[in-house]
Amino acid sequence: MEKRRLGRTGLMVTPISFGALPMQRCTMEEAGEVLVAALDAGINFFDSARAYTDSEGKIGRYISSRRSEYALATKSMARTQEGMAKDVDTSLATMKTSYIDIYQMHNVKNEQEWQTVMGPDGALAALKEAKAAGKIHHIGITSHNVDMLIRAVKSGEFSTVQVPFNCVEQRAMKDLFPLARTQDVGMIVMKPLGGGLIDQVDLALRFVLQEDGVVAIPGMDRVEHVSENLAASRNFKLLTPEENDKLAALAAELGSNFCRRCGYCMPCAAGIDIPQMFIFYLQYTRYGLKTAIPERYKGQAVKASACIECGECEERCPYSLPIRERMKQVANDLG
Ligand code: SF4
Ligand code: SF4
Repeated sequence: MEKRRLGRTGLMVTPISFGALPMQRCTMEEAGEVLVAALDAGINFFDSARAYTDSEGKIGRYISSRRSEYALATKSMARTQEGMAKDVDTSLATMKTSYIDIYQMHNVKNEQEWQTVMGPDGALAALKEAKAAGKIHHIGITSHNVDMLIRAVKSGEFSTVQVPFNCVEQRAMKDLFPLARTQDVGMIVMKPLGGGLIDQVDLALRFVLQEDGVVAIPGMDRVEHVSENLAASRNFKLLTPEENDKLAALAAELGSNFCRRCGYCMPCAAGIDIPQMFIFYLQYTRYGLKTAIPERYKGQAVKASACIECGECEERCPYSLPIRERMKQVANDLG
């Protein structure tokens, strides 16, 4: 299978690699099946996070015995030196490995967080120590904020950047990727399928892979996803004008106001499963599932009508989605 060089890390990885965020939705057995299927199919780069609940543990349990076959990345939301040092050790133990190829600062989103992580007692200091000790090999950063990642590339401290990029969110292509290439910084693309909502998988992944040197990490939580996603790189061809038009129409339909299922808004003060409410709403309005969705919605322990409009979720959503307004719409349409 084709491999791409991940910038100055020098790692040669599959252009379609493995995003482990959805692992947390799988049972242990399902997770094991998907991880082993991905490895057997030739995927050689897995990306997880401390924040993805038991995803690191599932990687440790099911594929750590084959550690030499893959490169491993994970990330932590810790912002202080002490917190990051602890998280690196936890990740090593949880993923049952003596080293992690890339350890990333997870979703550094604003000036205040940037100042903290880069400061004297900040997370970067811990990552540099971990690198000197051989616990990690490279330092990376992730963010939904392209300006933050541009700044990270310019700082010279990071070997990789991880950013959302898909047919709806295209800014990285204009401002970030050209700069990263000049600095030989590896480019990891999260949410190439918009968090699972872009259903034209082949077109959407080929759209991303058209960008020279990028590596996409679609989330996979079913064995079928492995072959479906890999097909895009195996049969890679540039998009035709007709295919581009098809994706543009899809992007226009989704707009920018859709939930990527990242879960950063959780927990909800009222116990609502916020991403699930967005999914119900989309399936009800866009896919016309006018009977099935109300039936499934009835089974929710806490419904959208329980929203107390505290607004805490909106402060945490990296896409600034109008969650309170959407909860009202769901409550209105689905009860
Ligand atoms: S605004 Fe509503 S949905 Fe958001 S955290 Fe508060 S109660 Fe939950
Ligand atoms: S509402 Fe925002 S934070 Fe919550 S899952 Fe969706 S995109 Fe992520």
